[in-house]
Amino acid sequence: MKYIFVTGGVVSSLGKGLAAASLGTLLELRGQKVVLNKFDPYLNVDPGTMSPFQHGEVYVLDDGAETDLDLGHYERFTSCRLSKLNNLTSGQVYETVLKKERRGDYLGKTVQVIPHVTNEIKNRIHEVARKMEGDIIITEIGGTVGDIEGLPFLEAIRQFRHDVGPENVIFMHVTLIPFIKAAGELKTKPTQQSVAKLREIGIAPDILICRAEHDVELEVREKIAMFCNLERRAVIEFRDVDHSIYECPLALRNQRLDDLVCEKLGIDAPDPNLDAYRDFVNRVIHPTNTCRIAVVGKYIELQDAYKSIYESLTHAGAQHDTAVKLIRIDAEDIESDGAEKHLKNVDGILIPGGFGDRGTEGKILSAQYARENSVPFFGICLGMQIATIEFARNVCGLEGSNSTEFDPNSPHPVICLLEEQQEVEDKGGSMRLGTWVTDLKEGTKAHQLYGETTISERHRHRFEFNQNYREQFEKNGLVISGTSPDNTLTEIIEIPNHPFYIAVQFHPEFLSRPNAPHPVFSGFVEASLKHAKLI
Ligand code: GLN
Repeated sequence: MKYIFVTGGVVSSLGKGLAAASLGTLLELRGQKVVLNKFDPYLNVDPGTMSPFQHGEVYVLDDGAETDLDLGHYERFTSCRLSKLNNLTSGQVYETVLKKERRGDYLGKTVQVIPHVTNEIKNRIHEVARKMEGDIIITEIGGTVGDIEGLPFLEAIRQFRHDVGPENVIFMHVTLIPFIKAAGELKTKPTQQSVAKLREIGIAPDILICRAEHDVELEVREKIAMFCNLERRAVIEFRDVDHSIYECPLALRNQRLDDLVCEKLGIDAPDPNLDAYRDFVNRVIHPTNTCRIAVVGKYIELQDAYKSIYESLTHAGAQHDTAVKLIRIDAEDIESDGAEKHLKNVDGILIPGGFGDRGTEGKILSAQYARENSVPFFGICLGMQIATIEFARNVCGLEGSNSTEFDPNSPHPVICLLEEQQEVEDKGGSMRLGTWVTDLKEGTKAHQLYGETTISERHRHRFEFNQNYREQFEKNGLVISGTSPDNTLTEIIEIPNHPFYIAVQFHPEFLSRPNAPHPVFSGFVEASLKHAKLI
């Protein structure tokens, strides 16, 4: 087993996750089985309880683990299916150590960061190596070198290299080379200092990935190599890509990063075959058509809150040779201005998942606009609950319909909590999470899109479609096209006699991949193109 550890220096948000994932793409295309991990130094047990303002999207895995959005990059850039083993936080480490201490496992010893916390971190890497089949494990350490809370992780990976042998481990450091406009120069000092900081704790990087807005000329790379004790070819330029994050693996391939990694780890692997990948990237960058899709949400000003949805639209767009132009609309603006003003020129309306009642009435107005004006509509999780409420109020005539999440006293709680959720008090990890099977009704839109009658999708929600209203809905023309196998939970609803109106209780965006777009996203983009009269 070979190991690559990815650290970051100078500033956060450098795209360490993308660098790790892109290296994963290249190694996989060279026939290696790659597994990716993210270790996060914060004390939350998982990001599931964090606000999107703090943390962006929560990415959900098959086993229901609520994880960092970098795991989304990992799954999209490689074929690996990850599990809760692959996202470790300080919170989890300390939770385990403290449980062991209470059980008396440490036999009266003083419990310390070194060795008890660091051993726990190393154990996780060994556990991943044991339980997940792979040739190479790439582990990204969250945060920036120099952060106090990151130290135990860095110490653990330093020891790990010692334990398994330096020939099996690479340290890759992602750093920033800022351009100082007034001087007209790229500056290497922050990188030198960041590497010095790593060396102080016993880690000498083998490869530097230099993020820059400008070309990092040979001369600059030579200077970095000299001061950081590296070969010149181990100083890799990683410039901002022009159009799409999917260009990253190609940019790193141009710099021969994968050759260097294979050489350093003694891996004899053929060159990567990038044809299919390049073809995908070309379709992303040079599409023939454009369609305008509105995303009506609560966190639209945040880059990362709906990350997987935006990526899924890119994948589906590429399949249809189309650029999806996102129109990000704050649901509260629809409340104040009405739906028409914001939605009259769009080709599709998507309502993503969410929590809390802010903006819900604006989302309900958007769903109504889509239904009444035959605009393609796609509701996801909360988006399905919104579509249900809208249909109850305006088609079934059930005045005051709502979700008990937003109005506990609603006369028609068409979305409500199941009994087992009513007793739950803990907020963390207590929703309906992970992969569940859905049976599809034959002859429905969902069935047509998936081409199968049984599907598996990832979930993350607490509230459910209220089955007491099911008959009434169906009588009024709503089609329940997907249910749990025991038929007690509604998973997909759709409206026939509408070009495309489908809403799902799960999160299809977690299963879309570049060259394998999700069927519902694909159908939605296709319907939006038809709406735009482009096909
Ligand atoms: N707030 C809703 C629920 O808990 C929807 C959750 C979501 O969209 N992920 O059921």
